[in-house]
Amino acid sequence: MKDDTVRIAGKIRHSSVNGPGVRYVVFFQGCPHKCKGCQNPETHDPLEGEEVYISDITDEIKNTRYIDGITISGGEPLMQPHAVKKLAEAAHLTGLDVWLYTGWTFEEIMFDDTAKEVKNILEDLDVLVDGRFVESLKSEGYLYRGSSNQRIIDVPASLDRGTVIQLDL
Ligand code: SF4
Repeated sequence: MKDDTVRIAGKIRHSSVNGPGVRYVVFFQGCPHKCKGCQNPETHDPLEGEEVYISDITDEIKNTRYIDGITISGGEPLMQPHAVKKLAEAAHLTGLDVWLYTGWTFEEIMFDDTAKEVKNILEDLDVLVDGRFVESLKSEGYLYRGSSNQRIIDVPASLDRGTVIQLDL
């Protein structure tokens, strides 16, 4: 994998189910979490999917009209932090907000070695939907998340206060 490419499972130019408003969504390829009941098992193998230039995606984001933000999902996007950073920076330059779905928790990213190398990525995000999917806690009624353990986190406020601040959605 080169610095200027990212391996993805797919993308959607206009989605209304991966965060508020209309959003450009990128599904990254590769996930180590293996949650029981995962809806996207085809995204797990890091060698599957398609390797694309990050600049092709950022160009498409800039040229897509009628979107409110981007959502980076997977798979586990934080397995390819260099690409998350570039997409988030491009989105912010275009005036779009950035949501990211991860199987790690905010605390794992901040305080454990588990995902330590991706801690700096938090500064590039507006909202983090965190935690593994837990099948026994699943409900179709949860907005923007699959199971009740997952949290929709206001990242700038959480970094500012040093504790998790959840969005009231
Ligand atoms: S983190 Fe997401 S993509 Fe990965 S196994 Fe869990 S539900 Fe599936």
